[in-house]
Amino acid sequence: MNAPNTSSDFSDAVTMQRPFTEDRSSRSVHRDMRFYRLLSKVRWLTYPGKILVVTFLGIHVPLITVVVVSLMYSLADLNTVLTVLGILLAATLVGTGLTLFVISDLLKPILETSRALRDYRVSQRMPALPTGFTDEVGILMRDTQDTIRDLDGLLMRLTFSDAESGLPNRYRIRQLFQEQIAAGERIAIVALRVVNRPEIEAFFDLDTGAAMLAQFTERLTREPAILSVGRAAPGLFKFSIRWKGQSETAHELKGISERLSAPVSDGRNAFYPRLFMGVARLSAELVDADALMAAAISAMSVVEPSSDSNIYFYSVETEKMARQRFHMDQELREAIGTDQFQLHYQPIIDFANKKVVSAEALLRWYHPERGLIPPSDFIPLAEAAGIIVPLGAWILKTACRQAAAWSGELINVPRIAINISARQFRDPNLLATIDEAVAAAGITHDRLKLEITESVLLTDIRIAKRTIGELQGRGITVSLDDFGAEYSNLRYVANFNFDEMKVDMMFVRNVDLDDRLKAICTSIVTLSNGLGIPIVAEGVERPEEIALLHSLGCQMFQGYFLSRPVPADEFPA
Ligand code: C2E
Ligand code: CA
Ligand code: CA
Repeated sequence: MNAPNTSSDFSDAVTMQRPFTEDRSSRSVHRDMRFYRLLSKVRWLTYPGKILVVTFLGIHVPLITVVVVSLMYSLADLNTVLTVLGILLAATLVGTGLTLFVISDLLKPILETSRALRDYRVSQRMPALPTGFTDEVGILMRDTQDTIRDLDGLLMRLTFSDAESGLPNRYRIRQLFQEQIAAGERIAIVALRVVNRPEIEAFFDLDTGAAMLAQFTERLTREPAILSVGRAAPGLFKFSIRWKGQSETAHELKGISERLSAPVSDGRNAFYPRLFMGVARLSAELVDADALMAAAISAMSVVEPSSDSNIYFYSVETEKMARQRFHMDQELREAIGTDQFQLHYQPIIDFANKKVVSAEALLRWYHPERGLIPPSDFIPLAEAAGIIVPLGAWILKTACRQAAAWSGELINVPRIAINISARQFRDPNLLATIDEAVAAAGITHDRLKLEITESVLLTDIRIAKRTIGELQGRGITVSLDDFGAEYSNLRYVANFNFDEMKVDMMFVRNVDLDDRLKAICTSIVTLSNGLGIPIVAEGVERPEEIALLHSLGCQMFQGYFLSRPVPADEFPA
């Protein structure tokens, strides 16, 4: 594997977690190497060369000295001395030559080890040192070989695999995709987001969460159609599959999505992964892994909870939508800080005494260039981008302040109704945010009503129940919004103690003219009466609608006929 040059990151990682100190002071080692230090200054000789010279001198100087001295004492003539010296020199030269030849071979393990280390440091080339010898240098070679291999394995893991899931990380998965494309595979790349993954962190302890994520990862790796899968970020996976034409691929991915969406559980808790998928296949415009991955992410970014499918295929349209969203996302973030948001209020009126029982706060965005943008255009986006949480905090604060202001002006608005989106509802700080807004405005919790829709309850019922219980415990009323429009799952009505239900305006509009709507409204009113939960009819535009719904037993109304949503200062009128 070709590792990028990461030696410095790597050594950081190693020193960071090193729990023990260096064993032997390197200074004392230095002091021991007196002759080595001296000779290291001689630069024109190689290390083996120095050993050869030292060996040569060590053998010859004493030997020749002894011979010369003994010859002189035996008073041999100069010729004899020179002849003996010549023979001696020749013989020892041959002898030391052979010795030096063997010594230089004995030095090879050290020199090879040094080269292996250098090669690895410079070009990450894996060494090929022999490991079968058991003497000191044999052990040196084996230790070097094994240490580099182990460190390299660790480095590869750190560089190319994702610590949390053990899957290839973003760099590795990109390589794998590139390899598949280079090998001529007709692949499609899929970006997969586990949208509700933050909930794992919010609602489960670390170990439970990790076990659930591991189960999910395991499931991903077992999908037979997936060629390679990696994890690019928390909750974001990328995988490749073979492209088998639009409809067959779509079918295959639907199967994968269904299997992956089944709950993961640790026996006590269950987590239902909610998945968004974006798909991009090799084509004339998308020719490499980077382009495919970007396109898959872009297609995925336009999936919404309300979309009819959770799988989007990249196209010119998805690209355009993604771009628009991206811009709006940026603008939304800017808008929070720059007074572009305003709350309008729409009264909910009790038919019996014609009094305002509450006012629903509805968000308005005055865009500096595009003018008024309706909430349906940006709330889902703010939700998807997570901006809804800070925005929701602003809404709560502003609405609470308004409630306080109206009390001061002696305008009787018992409660302000605030819409809470799914993401906000699941935000672990929701209660703290509410408490803060209430305290800052100097009002009590019983001035608030929160409107939630069924989709908010789709996650863990126990958690939703607890949150609703805590809200009601503070004196906040909780209203089920858009009843009938979404899932109309009576389980929710049975499971939760709502303080109020709001009939969706699709059943209310023209209820007096359409027998089928009338039948639906009749049964909803009967249901609410049976449960003892007050009901609000939303979106009444004509008096006939009110008259008919009242005759069915509905007491509270909201709609353009009574008042449009208006800025706070117009509300009293
Ligand atoms: P919703 O909660 O169902 O709010 C009622 C919507 O019906 C409002 O639309 C309101 O202006 C509209 N409406 C009321 N009476 C009538 C009527 O007689 N006829 C017609 N045609 N419409 C009527 P709006 O203000 O455009 O809000 C749309 C949705 O956006 C809201 O639906 C709600 O889901 C969301 N939304 C608005 N404000 C907020 C907010 O502050 N936070 C959150 N999370 N969502 C909000
Ligand atoms: Ca509402
Ligand atoms: Ca509604």
